[in-house]
Amino acid sequence: MADTPMHEAGYYDKQDLQKVKCLLCPHFCLIDEGASGKCRGRINIKGTLYSEVYGLATSVSIDPMEKKPLYHFFPGRDILSVGTAGCNFICSFCQNHQISQSAPSDIPGLRHTSPELIVNNAEKSPSCAGVAYTYNEPTIWYEYMYDIAIRAAEHNLKNVVVSNGYINSRPLDKLLEVVDAFNIDLKSFSNRFYRDVSGGTLAPVKRTMKAIRKKGLHLEITHLVVPGLNDDEGEFSVMADWIAGELGEDTALHISRCFPAWRLSDPPTPLPVIERFCQLAGERLNYVYTGNMPPGSTGSDTECPGCGAMIIKRSGYRVDLPGLDQSGRCRFCSETVAVVA
Ligand code: SF4
Repeated sequence: MADTPMHEAGYYDKQDLQKVKCLLCPHFCLIDEGASGKCRGRINIKGTLYSEVYGLATSVSIDPMEKKPLYHFFPGRDILSVGTAGCNFICSFCQNHQISQSAPSDIPGLRHTSPELIVNNAEKSPSCAGVAYTYNEPTIWYEYMYDIAIRAAEHNLKNVVVSNGYINSRPLDKLLEVVDAFNIDLKSFSNRFYRDVSGGTLAPVKRTMKAIRKKGLHLEITHLVVPGLNDDEGEFSVMADWIAGELGEDTALHISRCFPAWRLSDPPTPLPVIERFCQLAGERLNYVYTGNMPPGSTGSDTECPGCGAMIIKRSGYRVDLPGLDQSGRCRFCSETVAVVA
């Protein structure tokens, strides 16, 4: 049994017969008394909606920033990474399904951790740039994430959100006030994929990314290529066009291989597919990277969009910045490089 004080959720409406309607994400779950929403993280008790995961971390760990992945945000630094259980999506290939498809009560030994303790831990590590909300979908513990983020910002720590982007505008707008950087998992550019594979819709994810950009915050995108589900070149090209046109050609795109997990038993994404997608994206975007590749593969270094010189060299999680000057420009041609450091 999880050890947690009950914490009332934000963003919901009371309905008749002690039902509540959750307004946090585009599912708008209508939740009966005693039941939880689709994400398993919010429960209706006598007409009041509570977070079931406030303070209940399944993982607290110091990771390289590059592992989020963020390649253009404080490269080479670490970040304290926290996650809980639950998700508002049900992607059949989920690489973290043990936590994303669980309720907190499914995971033994969870204990409440205060936001202050998380911030203290981040502050204690000199290499840590801040706190990342990651591993599962952080929208699920929105209230806890926000409470940490406010305190982290007060301590001059950065806040990083790694998310599927499936969140409503009102809670997102509040979050945008305290978060510095996002990595959004753009799963496909097909609404059918979102509906049939993830159990969501595409439009809110696009809206979230546009809102992040409009606010001037740092944004990178991850696209996991799942064989047979989202590996159509034409659809991918339309997605890359949209990213370049709506979010800007400096938006870093991470194109990752998918490995069999949860309900997916197909072999990993073939390497030529990743290489072809990188080529297509590189015709539209300045910074395109590969992910989940075999050791020794190319595709993780940052090159200057002006002169092509090596700006940031990555080897595993080792990062060197041979071509970046202190003002964030290319050391060789003075081109501005889209890196926050
Ligand atoms: S956050 Fe959870 S409970 Fe709320 S609408 Fe989304 S899935 Fe439903």
